[in-house]
Amino acid sequence: MKPPEKKLIIVCSSNSQMLKAEGLLKQKKIQTELVPTPSHHGSICSTSILIQGADREAAEGYLGEKRINYRLYPYETKKLTGLMKALMDRAAKQDFLEIMEKLEAGADLTKEEIVRLLNTQSNMEEEMLIAAADRMRKEIVGDRVEIRAAIEFSNYCKKSCHYCGIRKGCDSPKRYRMSEDEILAQVHQIHQLGIKTVILQSGEDDYYTLERLISLIQRIKRETAMAITLSIGERSYEEYAALKQAGANNYLLKIETTNPKVFQSLHPDDDLNHRKQCTQWLKELGYVTASGNMVGLPGQSLEDIAEDILYFKEMGIHMIGIGPFVPAKGTPLAHGVVGNVALTLRAVAATRLVCKNVYLPATTALASVDPEGQVKALRAGANTIMLISTPLQYRESYQLYSNKNMIDIQSAVDAVEGANRLLPKYLKRRNENE
Ligand code: SAH
Ligand code: SF4
Repeated sequence: MKPPEKKLIIVCSSNSQMLKAEGLLKQKKIQTELVPTPSHHGSICSTSILIQGADREAAEGYLGEKRINYRLYPYETKKLTGLMKALMDRAAKQDFLEIMEKLEAGADLTKEEIVRLLNTQSNMEEEMLIAAADRMRKEIVGDRVEIRAAIEFSNYCKKSCHYCGIRKGCDSPKRYRMSEDEILAQVHQIHQLGIKTVILQSGEDDYYTLERLISLIQRIKRETAMAITLSIGERSYEEYAALKQAGANNYLLKIETTNPKVFQSLHPDDDLNHRKQCTQWLKELGYVTASGNMVGLPGQSLEDIAEDILYFKEMGIHMIGIGPFVPAKGTPLAHGVVGNVALTLRAVAATRLVCKNVYLPATTALASVDPEGQVKALRAGANTIMLISTPLQYRESYQLYSNKNMIDIQSAVDAVEGANRLLPKYLKRRNENE
């Protein structure tokens, strides 16, 4: 019997060509998956199409007819050649070593194997896991750390997620909304630092109608041409489409947890399947998608975290933010237990090893519970830092959780240097220009 044909990856010349190609293949009943473009074929922050090897001829025929500009490659999973040799002087249990061997060979891990990675049984195993993830990070995204900047432009929210410090009904934060001009002033400051991507984040605030958001996006594009990430929660398909059309590039909407019971117990206004649906829409509309979870949620198990990681992989998410749960004043979980830093770092490392071809932020939540949190995450597979560029007078009111760290450019630079990594080439350090 012939072995099953390997999967193939279609890398298109632009996002619009990719969307056209995907629409066409789907219409012709060819099974497709949207995944981050493998780093050796292009930018991870773009999307390519996976198809079954058996569909090659048919797919090439349809794409040729419509003159789609694309290249086709065999889909290779990343091997970690030399991993076992590098780890040889460290002792670990046999089952753990077998997982390392699978990673070296580029094989996919099962849920049980991911749980085992999260459940290291000695310092030595922990070191091996972190070393393997760091190696994978280096091979996939190299040593430069990506720096992005967030403007938290409104802390009004119509939802009551149990963990969140700006949830509706929580009376501790002083509520604020930034005007378009105020937001633009911050965007220009970020732009002057050379940063390429601005993240616009808020509670779910209907004051920012489609019309207001489109005007904001268009102005940012006109005045700076920066890439825009939106993080404004759940909206309708039509709204996501209009915001994409207006120029938004990326969308950050975390799944938080894939355990339906835990999700339901924390989100009185939300439904896990609808959250997944929103993520699927964002992908189909051509957004570069960011998701993520919290580690240490009440009722969450290691199996749940492993399931989250498999979900990120199956959904072809481009950027995955993993942070500890941090209790927030004035919320139903105010007296909860903060997520474990070491487990969060193992989750970051396991995500790098399983999802491979992704951007992983060293999250603000990690920096908030451990002053060394970002350096540790950068050493455990992370490659991105998000600055907080919210105006000073509003920062204190955007406490999603208590004692939130206000990562500024200096602390980002310190973390990058502390982890022995490189700053992005585009970053303009003020003192260099003086
Ligand atoms: N309203 C939008 C964006 C703001 S919340 C949304 O919900 O998507 C952004 C993120 O903050 C959430 O996805 C959640 O993961 C994180 N967050 C909120 N409260 C938190 C807490 N107590 N501990 C850790 N992370 C928290
Ligand atoms: Fe609102 Fe987002 Fe907080 Fe939920 S997590 S209450 S949607 S700001």
